[in-house]
Amino acid sequence: MKENVVIIGGGVAGMEAAKQLLFLGYTPIVVEQKDHLGGHVSQWNRLFPDMASAQDLVRHLGEEIVDANIFLETKVNFINRLREGYLVMLSNGVSVACRAILVASGFRLFDAARKEEYGYGVYDHVITNADLENWFNGNPDPRVPASPKKVGFVHCVGSRDLKAGNSQCSKVCCMTAVKQAIEMKEHFPDAQIYCFYMDLRLFGKKYEDFYINAQQEYGVQFIRGRVSEVGETLDGHLQVKAEDTLSGKPLRAQLDLLVLMAGMVCNPEAAELARMARLEMDSDGFLRSADNISGIVGSNRPGIFYAGACTGTKTVPETLAEARSAALDIHRFIQGK
Ligand code: SF4
Repeated sequence: MKENVVIIGGGVAGMEAAKQLLFLGYTPIVVEQKDHLGGHVSQWNRLFPDMASAQDLVRHLGEEIVDANIFLETKVNFINRLREGYLVMLSNGVSVACRAILVASGFRLFDAARKEEYGYGVYDHVITNADLENWFNGNPDPRVPASPKKVGFVHCVGSRDLKAGNSQCSKVCCMTAVKQAIEMKEHFPDAQIYCFYMDLRLFGKKYEDFYINAQQEYGVQFIRGRVSEVGETLDGHLQVKAEDTLSGKPLRAQLDLLVLMAGMVCNPEAAELARMARLEMDSDGFLRSADNISGIVGSNRPGIFYAGACTGTKTVPETLAEARSAALDIHRFIQGK
């Protein structure tokens, strides 16, 4: 009989790890709280820098794991230590004995309403990056005007922000803003697009080219400055105040739509799992890897491994690579290597 490995989280990290573990001869048991697999990626439209379809990635991974046991709308209730391994008790009444557990509980998007100065949930035309992806996926959103002339993107919403309790950079939102700015220009060729940023963090392969293209081909304007205040005019436009920190001058802009680049915070489920399995949390609120150089997918507990954004902000390719690495480490652990 094939050996069970419990995977907590059915986002792309959990799916990729399940695929690899099936290949290595195990029975992955994927436990997902939502009613679908794919996590945040399943709600996204296209992925930078190649503009690949997010839905295709999730569909492809789903096809690869049809032989895994997948429990949707299911939570982990308890994790008990056995003499060898763990007993994982699920909210659907199933208990699974296993020698290895993979935590792939992912992240939550920062709640943009907490940054009251941006007026999310208050003004009619303020949305988040996730809302915009939902609109790109063809779902109508009355907050997106029929023909916006001026669109602004605010970087670092809830990231690199000590007041919000998140000092970390979310890594993906500069590029997401560049990608979404290009996509808005494709939808509305006459619109002027502004990105308000603190620093641009464009570290990956092809990222810089993507950013240069956004300026040269699409005319996206990048303004180094933090938006300090958003208001609404009587005719329903947004009035944005910022300081251009390159010129040192205050700036006011009237916009038709404002998109807040909400950052990543650790999924609260991770803290719950940490309590159940005595896992260590890091100072940034994410789970703590065994070490940050060669032990990213390891934990402080034998047989418990990590993949993806449960240990920190990650891009999709990093998440997939970690999932493969974790699957191999689980295999080696079970084999006693
Ligand atoms: S990736 Fe860019 S927008 Fe996101 S937190 Fe880092 S600096 Fe801010």
